[in-house]
Amino acid sequence: MHIPVVLITGAGIGIGRASAVAFARSGYRVILTDVLEGEGQRTAEEIIQEGGHAEFHYLDVRDTERTDSLVALVEERHGRIDAVLANAGIAHKVPLPALTDEKWNHTLDIDLGGVFRIARAAAPGMRQRGSGSVIALSSIMGVAYGWDEHVHYSAAKSGVVGLVRGLAVELAKDGIRVNGIAPGYICTAQALSEENSLGEAGLKDAAKFIPLGRTGEPEDVADVAVFLASDAARYITGQVIVVDGGLLVGRY
Ligand code: NDP
Repeated sequence: MHIPVVLITGAGIGIGRASAVAFARSGYRVILTDVLEGEGQRTAEEIIQEGGHAEFHYLDVRDTERTDSLVALVEERHGRIDAVLANAGIAHKVPLPALTDEKWNHTLDIDLGGVFRIARAAAPGMRQRGSGSVIALSSIMGVAYGWDEHVHYSAAKSGVVGLVRGLAVELAKDGIRVNGIAPGYICTAQALSEENSLGEAGLKDAAKFIPLGRTGEPEDVADVAVFLASDAARYITGQVIVVDGGLLVGRY
């Protein structure tokens, strides 16, 4: 019986980190990747100390060559990649007058291009084995809300929805499922940033409007990622699951 392998981008902190731990606890060998080497390495070590299987590799998701060579290395070393969690993302606050082509491209390159690159790299091996699951992080800002001073982020996260749908149809015949997760307000470095996002006070205020009465924890999203990768989700593809405590369907 082989140990299933999951590759996660941006796995050093936040949702990626929680997902790495959740996948490891579900019996996966976790390939953690991130630009944050210390955090990624530490998370891998924690998983190993818990008795799990994990290893860390540096990966900037903008880098096509490194993405391709890392996928090849993992497949050579472990024989397969069963699931990919394309999680790495940035959310920089930039008002429209300051949104240069460079800033626009930077966010699109990571938040949308990064998902595309890792999915493209992992697809041939999954296709060969006739099975696989790709999960990408969108956002409520990509499926429902507009976000002022973050139009590049909203555009990228909406782009993830289109990417998920297109890939799901293209890869379904090869036994590969492709889904997305659109988190609401989740307590991580990204959302806690005063400069770029809601910050601590903003998150506290947001909790008042969330039907389930609290902002999300990274683990709330991680468990959905594990579900989507699992056989329990075998008939789900092309979907983006909102994980927001009821925010979008609430009255406010
Ligand atoms: P965090 O900022 O906590 O973690 C994201 C990780 O991705 C960090 O380690 C970050 O490094 C890394 N990263 C950034 N750029 C790159 C890159 N070029 N290559 C590889 N890794 C990179 O974010 P969250 O855990 O909050 O978010 C995870 C995903 O979920 C993101 O795609 C985010 O947009 C999405 N999301 C989050 C929500 C929230 O409320 N937190 C809501 C909706 C969606 P560094 O810190 O150096 O940037």
